[in-house]
Amino acid sequence: MRPNTLNPLFAPITSLPGIGQRLAKAVEKLAGPLVVDLLWHLPVGLIDRRHQPHISTAADGAIVTLVVRVERHLKGHNPRAPYKVRCSDATGFMDLVFFNVRGDYLEKALPVGAMRAISGRVERYDGMLNMVHPDHMVPAEELAQIQIVEPVYPMTAGLPPKVLRKAIEAAIGKAPDLAEWLDPALLAQRRWPAWHAALTDVHHPADEGALSAFAPARQRLAYDELLSNQLALAIVRARNKRKAGRASKGDGSLRRKIVAALPYQLTGSQKSALDEILADMAAPTRMLRLLQGDVGSGKTVVALLAMANAIEAGGQAALLAPTDILARQHFATLEPLCAKAGIDLALLTGRDKGKAREAILARLGTGDLKLIVGTHALVQEGVDFADLRLAIVDEQHRFGVKQRQALADKGAGVDLLVMTATPIPRTLMLTAYGDIDVSKLTEKPAGRQPIDTRTLPLERLHDVAEGLRRAIATGARIYWICPLVDESEQVDLAAATERHRMLAQMFGARVGLVHGRQKAAERDAAMAAFAKGDLDILVATTVIEVGVNVPEATIMVIEHAERFGLAQLHQLRGRVGRGSAKSSCLLLYQAPLGETAKARLQILRETEDGFRIAEEDLRLRGGGEVLGTRQSGLPEFRVADLAAHGELLAMARDDAQLMVDRDLALKTPRGEALRLMLYLFHQDEAIKLLASG
Ligand code: ADP
Ligand code: MG
Repeated sequence: MRPNTLNPLFAPITSLPGIGQRLAKAVEKLAGPLVVDLLWHLPVGLIDRRHQPHISTAADGAIVTLVVRVERHLKGHNPRAPYKVRCSDATGFMDLVFFNVRGDYLEKALPVGAMRAISGRVERYDGMLNMVHPDHMVPAEELAQIQIVEPVYPMTAGLPPKVLRKAIEAAIGKAPDLAEWLDPALLAQRRWPAWHAALTDVHHPADEGALSAFAPARQRLAYDELLSNQLALAIVRARNKRKAGRASKGDGSLRRKIVAALPYQLTGSQKSALDEILADMAAPTRMLRLLQGDVGSGKTVVALLAMANAIEAGGQAALLAPTDILARQHFATLEPLCAKAGIDLALLTGRDKGKAREAILARLGTGDLKLIVGTHALVQEGVDFADLRLAIVDEQHRFGVKQRQALADKGAGVDLLVMTATPIPRTLMLTAYGDIDVSKLTEKPAGRQPIDTRTLPLERLHDVAEGLRRAIATGARIYWICPLVDESEQVDLAAATERHRMLAQMFGARVGLVHGRQKAAERDAAMAAFAKGDLDILVATTVIEVGVNVPEATIMVIEHAERFGLAQLHQLRGRVGRGSAKSSCLLLYQAPLGETAKARLQILRETEDGFRIAEEDLRLRGGGEVLGTRQSGLPEFRVADLAAHGELLAMARDDAQLMVDRDLALKTPRGEALRLMLYLFHQDEAIKLLASG
């Protein structure tokens, strides 16, 4: 249970002054639904209102705070003319200028004869000083309240900055003083403030330097965030380690048959990855290993051989895929090989219901069925194994820790292999897995040719489509990708449908369409037709992003390439260049491109090395967006910026490991404080694990 001291922070934002139901929506979109979320909504700029000249000495364009006397109201002759309020000080006159004034609020706020402190940007016209819509107008005796350095927050439409600032102030006010959870030696060495002081600091930047990721208060809060991430992962890992693993060491009989049935030789890196996996499986501890290999590097066959080992050892194996399409594709790839080896294999997705599903579950339960491929349907309750030894999760970044764990929990001491084609930079990997063993497939299978990648403005779209004519005549198969931006799936779908119509008009019936809103059967049919060669062009939203394998496809067209993450573009591009024929990728972009966008697309033209692409993307864009997909399953940080705080992450990992070694139950005073920190950062799952022992 969350300690009561934190309750005010975990109240809804509507508990803050000025935040009603209507504004709560805007605040939630910006920061989150709870008071605590506002603490991490940090300023991105500041306005210095400390400058207090006189009317005669105020410089054109400056932000100033002035104390003035209200002289008279000069209302416009028509509603569109500006409403001016003439004011004075000992040195001269100025006008406060307002547009679209309704009612009499100005008469109330600025009564003639009153002394007012005002703050805002001034301009000088024909010698007359003007201030258009002052940011602040308060009674003169409240001058001190506005003569400050004001933080500027990321904003959203419909939320007045003042309201947000006030709400954030109130949120800070609700933050209790908590016992220090960081090592005092670290605080001293880094000159970091205590938690509450750091919060106050980051929300009251004194100068530009205080906004930097390297300002002590920001570093402190970033470290807290990274530490809670690392500590939660370390706790999960420690718990898993304490559960004994199984030693699964097969006799190689099934593996030999599979390898003999392959139409190719395994690459060197496939062999060494497999050796690493087999060694882990043979050990009596639980395997937690990541198999990382660029798109097309041949992870599937490595997975199959590892699963064969589990079966040889007398157990069962499961392969979890993120989408229906992928699960089906894996099934189709594995089935002929399994048949050669005499391994019984089944497919289970959300579409399997009733008798068929019952039959599969029954055979899993008796251990009769050795190998199963499926989607989330595998993780559900009621899916029980006789002896699950190895769980493999494909395209891991699509799944959360919870699903990964749920599958592993379906057996005793299950070995876990996660596979990803997304080249996750080292720093991001740490945040997602903590310390995990990694096998990399660095070689591409023999015979692959480089993909010719070009960038073109969208205006050339019709030329591009025309150009496909020749390619189709020579038997090429083409993917045409339309972006999916999740804010407006409707609109995007319309774009894909429209593109499909256009291309069908040009090329006739041999143009297909797949998207996420389609009935699964319809989508499968289109994919299958494309794979078989019954379609020349497949128009798709990003549903085809992961894993789809049609070696005959050689052209990839991507519309609005600038809207995609680099890693995502790399993945999409990886759908072609899988056979021995020469492939190309056309990135259509909306001109004009900004500098960063240009640099990003340039990287894709320069290299096909997924790791380099990911590192460059991290450098250009910062951590959170590298995967280009919001449902990435990787943690998102509010304060920490992985591009700037990589060093802190490494420290946090060591710190977390030390803590778990010394005090896994978090019972010491520092442990207790850290437990509170975990609550603060929503790491409740890890705490639950602590409770369950
Ligand atoms: P990914 O790592 O993207 O999942 P796949 O496992 O789908 O890659 O493999 C991509 C393609 O490469 C498949 O058609 C597969 O049959 C083929 N392949 C895998 N390993 C080799 C190899 N050693 N030599 C040649 N082709 C291979
Ligand atoms: Mg794959």
